[in-house]
Amino acid sequence: QFCFAKDQIIPAAEASIHPMDIGLIRGYGIFDFFRTSNYAPLFLSDYLDRFIRSAEKTHLTLNYSKEELKQIILELIEKNNLSDGGIRMLLSGGVSENHFSPTDGSLFIFNEDLDFPPKEKYEAGIKLLPIEHVRYIADIKTTNYAFPVWHSKIWKQEGAEDVLYHMNGYISESSRSNIFIIKNGEIATPDKHILHGITRKRVLELAKNVAIRPISYEELLQADEAFITSTTKKILPVTKVGEKAIGIGKVGPETQKLMSAFAKMEQKSSQT
Ligand code: PLP
Repeated sequence: QFCFAKDQIIPAAEASIHPMDIGLIRGYGIFDFFRTSNYAPLFLSDYLDRFIRSAEKTHLTLNYSKEELKQIILELIEKNNLSDGGIRMLLSGGVSENHFSPTDGSLFIFNEDLDFPPKEKYEAGIKLLPIEHVRYIADIKTTNYAFPVWHSKIWKQEGAEDVLYHMNGYISESSRSNIFIIKNGEIATPDKHILHGITRKRVLELAKNVAIRPISYEELLQADEAFITSTTKKILPVTKVGEKAIGIGKVGPETQKLMSAFAKMEQKSSQT
């Protein structure tokens, strides 16, 4: 296995990071993650744009252009013979004398095996555990997921797939996915305090007329259907929030339509 580290493609086992990198000691770094299908990176341009934007917003120096990153990724896919999997790009904050000011960080690009949730979850839907929380620098894909990692034990104990963040009565997103609701045929999704997901963007293209607006927690509970979206889950139906069933507690027809439309869109994208 090869990865990109130390400014070149090297055997993955040779990648390393300095223990004083503020990515480690302060949790200050950014990343992005996309999939490959049939040797093609899916929606790569969007992921690269978001990665570059995250670097700018966090004042991290990314010494590679969008085109250079793309070339490295294509080379990596070829060297690792990567048909279907995930690729992570990670930029650390760098070694900093005062342990605070970002310096030239290290860029890593490496591939990972990918497991989607089991088929049953797409058929029956999942439960989210509501929790009052907001991600403060929500639209930056920082490496800091301390809160959900810490919290994951609790949601697993509660039989939930993940959390649902809400604050002051309004919902935002799940720990690694965006959320949509459907009521009387209207599809809606929040826009504030979220990471603007690439899968969310695809759903907005597929569904057209999605209302992008604040959604109260109460409105979610009264919805006919709900689903979350992410790179590693695609469109995953939500049939329960806390102890409350969403709609009739089954995967709804509108969600099903979007799931198949998304599958087709992906297939097309991996062939071009
Ligand atoms: N929201 C958060 C906080 C995330 O971490 C992610 C993905 O990891 C998403 C939403 C979904 O984004 P995408 O569809 O680009 O995977």
